Order: sequence, then structure tokens, then C-alpha cells
Amino acid sequence: LSPEEFRELGHAYVDWIADYRARVGELPVLPGVEPGWVRERLPAELPEEGEPLTEVLADMDRVVVPASTHWQHPGFFAYFPANASLASLLGDMLSTGLGSQGMLWSTSPAATELEQHLLDQLAGATGLPAEFTFAGGGGGVIQDSASSSSLVALLAALHRASGGAWRTAGRDGREVLYVSAHTHSSLEKAAIAAGLGADAVRIVAAASGGQAMSADALAAAVREDVAAGRRPVMVCATIGTTGTGAVDPVREIAAVCAEHGVWLHVDAAWAGAAAFCPEHRGLFDGAGLADSYSTDGHKWLLTAFDCNLFWTRDTATLIDALTVLPEYLRNAASESGAVVDYRDWHLPLGRRFRALKLWTVLRRFGLAGIRAHVRRHVELAAELESWAAADARFAAGVPRSLALVCLYVVTGRGTDADNAATKAVLERINAGGRSYVTHTVVGGRYLLRVAVGGLETEERHVRALWDDLCAAADAVTDAVTD
Ligand code: PLP
Repeated sequence: LSPEEFRELGHAYVDWIADYRARVGELPVLPGVEPGWVRERLPAELPEEGEPLTEVLADMDRVVVPASTHWQHPGFFAYFPANASLASLLGDMLSTGLGSQGMLWSTSPAATELEQHLLDQLAGATGLPAEFTFAGGGGGVIQDSASSSSLVALLAALHRASGGAWRTAGRDGREVLYVSAHTHSSLEKAAIAAGLGADAVRIVAAASGGQAMSADALAAAVREDVAAGRRPVMVCATIGTTGTGAVDPVREIAAVCAEHGVWLHVDAAWAGAAAFCPEHRGLFDGAGLADSYSTDGHKWLLTAFDCNLFWTRDTATLIDALTVLPEYLRNAASESGAVVDYRDWHLPLGRRFRALKLWTVLRRFGLAGIRAHVRRHVELAAELESWAAADARFAAGVPRSLALVCLYVVTGRGTDADNAATKAVLERINAGGRSYVTHTVVGGRYLLRVAVGGLETEERHVRALWDDLCAAADAVTDAVTD
């Protein structure tokens, strides 16, 4: 494409996106296609000759949209919503437009320094201590996902725990990684990818009556492992677990880690956005004591996938663990020691200019706009919680955490009947097309998770979900009674 052709087509593509976003709320959230539906509609052969790119837009309408789960739909309450604000799309477009690759400072000074600058500012805006900033001796980086951040943290932790031997000798078979039963599954995957094996993951018991990790149980497990000659490497504490939004007692966990020299990684993938609001800061108590901390820009923080924010106070260990320097990457700026080369902060060498989409978000919304965004969802979730609390057909499975509400249907005929009814309600909601919810299981109870957090989700959408929940509960309970 020439720049002029791009300009013309680009307008058509932007129009397509704007039209899609304007009507996404009228589409069924879930596509309802059978496996193979998409492939059956795609040509068997690649085009021998180029085609007009307007054809792609036609195929978006013909094939892609009908077979898409609409994550930006205001009735999307599943998983954790992934906000892809239109402001972030504009930044993403600039990034792709520049087409730069910021593996070294010298391959794109702007990509490196804008990222450093934003991560320093965001640390301040979310209450992380100065030690996590470049100015304070640490630093932050944008990774593709929270899963990658967990893996990178584990690699740095392995390096530190082995006194630097891990990089050359690999694991010694004694390493242990501590999580809770509610820690995200990416930690187990990190242990597998790091060559520790899933058996190196120790699941620490929850404090009684909840889903948060027990710091006492952690201390006992670490003591037991040390006595048995094992090597505690890392603890992952979560602020806002995936299933129920539980918050581990980070300050107490940090004390255990400090006593035994264990790396503490704090995973706040979803809840991290709430740290912009002073009234929610209490949930982050002790996060500043961690060795590393991560939160997803692409969940609640308005930035289109992929954008994970990762900070560590121990950048020296991280870089030492991962650095590999072939001759062709050597350059004067790196050798001056005056620049940051992000190539050593993650597994891939090449990296996108992701800071631009975060920048457009921060400049469009401002900190006040981000706080308002988070507060609106928390308020809507609190409303839903209050409707359910006042209705005998439903009960809360766990206390609401920020904008996440977990409910089950009360049949009065025991847990198995409640579980069956709740599952049936979930299936009805998701077949209905207005809303999409997912589930979790806690202590044998099947719970419907409602994660309020869509960009365009308003009270009327939460109300629509509630009306559908009530109707589905009645239908399911009537069906069982008949
Ligand atoms: N950690 C937590 C607590 C999560 O809830 C999730 C995803 O929902 C992840 C990690 C994984 O996030 P990502 O898709 O960015 O790897």
C-alpha cells in the first residue's frame, strides 16, 4: 500500500471498528457456532494474487463477527473483562505505524524511555514504593501477560536462590515454589517451563474460612522444607484471585519470605487497577515489600491486549539471570551503562512499543478517569450483591471482592441440588445472548462468577443480567419441582 492508499483504506477500517463498537451491545455476547464453522467458510487455498483489502472487511462481517465472543460487549461478565478502550487502540495503531522494535535502547530510544517513564509514574500512582522505580534503583517493564511476568519472576528467584549458579548449572532438584490453591494456574505452568516440574509447586493451605493463603501455614511449610534440605525459591501471593478475588495477606507473607530470603512475587493481574483508588489501597498492604509485582493493563486498566506491567526492586538479579549478549547486539549506548536495554527483562528478544497504547489511555482518561472507571464497576457490583442479598433465591458464595460477585442458587435441597441449579442457570444465561458469565468451584460449591468491568457496562446491563438470573432461577427450580 502506498501511504495514500493506506489513508483511504485506513478510514474504512477505522469506520468498521467504530461501527462494530457502536453496535456490539446488540449482538449476542456468545457466537453459538459449532466447531469447524469458521474453517468451512474460509477459502481452501491462499490467494495466488493479491486482493483488494475491502474484501477483508466483508469477511469480518461474514465470518469473523458471527463467530466471535464479544469481549467488549457491555453484557460481558465472564473471566475478567479485558478492556480494549478505543483510546488504547489509537496508541496501538501508532505503535504499529512506527513499526519499531525496542529490544535495545539504541533500536528505539523513545520506546525504551517512554516505557521507563510511564512505569515509574504508574508505580507512584498505585502506591508502590520508590524502590520499584528506575529513579529508586528498581524498575518496571511491559510484558505480554501476567503469566510471562510470573515466569520471569521465577527465573530471577531461581537465579538469586542459587547464588547465581542456576544460569549455568540449571536446577538442582531441591527448589520449591509456594502458591495457594487459588493462585493462578500460570504459576504451575511457570514451574513446568522453568524445568522444576509441577511437583516443585507446594500448595499452602488457606486461612480458615476463606480462600486467602495462610501466612502461618506458609511459615510452617517453608521451615519443613528447609529442614528437609529443600530450597524455598519463591512465594506467589495474589491480590485478587481469579476464582473469587481473594486477597492473600501480603505483609505477613513478606515477613516469612524476608526471614528465609525467599523471592516474593505479588500477582495483582486483575485487582491492580483498584490501587489507583485510595479507598482500595488497604487491599495492597505489604505489596511494596515484594521483590516483584505485576498487574495487567489489559484487564481492568483500559488498555487493549497485550499489556502487563511488571516491576521489580531487584533489577540486577533479573538482568543477570536472563542476559545473553551476542556480538551483533553490542553497541556504544549499552556499553556506556547509561541506558536500559529491555531485551534482558523477558524471554523474547524483540519487543513491541506497547507503552504507546498505555500512554494514550493515561492521557485520555487521566488518573481521575481511571479511578471513576474502577469505582463505577465496584458500585455496580455492590448493587448486584445487594439485590442478591435481599432475594431468597440466591446466596453469596463468598464476600464480594471489588467488582467480582460470586453467587449460587438456593434450592433448599442441599449442596448438590444447589450446584445443579446454579449450573443450569449459568447455561441459560449464556444461551440467552444478553450476558456472559463463568463459574468457579469453592469448597464443593458451584458458583456463578459475575465480573463487572466492561468498558460500556452500565447499570441497565447489570439489571438485565439480574432479571435474567431471577427468571432462570425460577425456571430451573420449577423444572426440578415439576
Ligand atoms: N493472575 C491472575 C490473578 C489472573 O486472574 C489471571 C487471568 O485471569 C492471570 C494471572 C493470567 O493473566 P494473563 O492472561 O495476563 O497471563
